[in-house]
Amino acid sequence: MEKIASFTIDHIKLQPGIYVSRKDHVGAETITTFDLRMTSPNEEPVMNTAEVHTIEHLAATFLRNHPVYKDKTIYFGPMGCRTGFYLLLAGDYESADIVNLMIEMYEFIRDFTGEVPGASPKDCGNYLDMNLGMAKYLAKKYLDTVLYDIKPERLSYPS
Ligand SMILES: [Zn+2]
Repeated sequence: MEKIASFTIDHIKLQPGIYVSRKDHVGAETITTFDLRMTSPNEEPVMNTAEVHTIEHLAATFLRNHPVYKDKTIYFGPMGCRTGFYLLLAGDYESADIVNLMIEMYEFIRDFTGEVPGASPKDCGNYLDMNLGMAKYLAKKYLDTVLYDIKPERLSYPS
């Protein structure tokens, strides 16, 4: 079988950032898949599933309530390797286009207090597997070390 595009990225060189993973064309529409890389692959500890799960619930809630992006949001979810997330938006975008949206989203997570949306047995398949404290810590780290002063090399994949 052919190696899929996301497995051809050099994960040794890859640092935390916002990358365009791929663009797919469905009918007349372009779908942009973003690689929201939060930890450096194979170099620092991956995120634990509880905080990944909490970020997923909060980010999905944020995006699906966003005045501009709610109707463009196709999907938000974690990478199996637990080093980041994929965001799929309807439209043809570059990484720089969503920096402000990602700052807004990760600030929402960093500053979130109260009950995590959807963290109940009726709404979620593993509702006790949540860690809001670590989700907030990781959101703050991504903001402070990557998003607030993002460099061009953190917006396009290493060659
Ligand atoms: Zn859940």
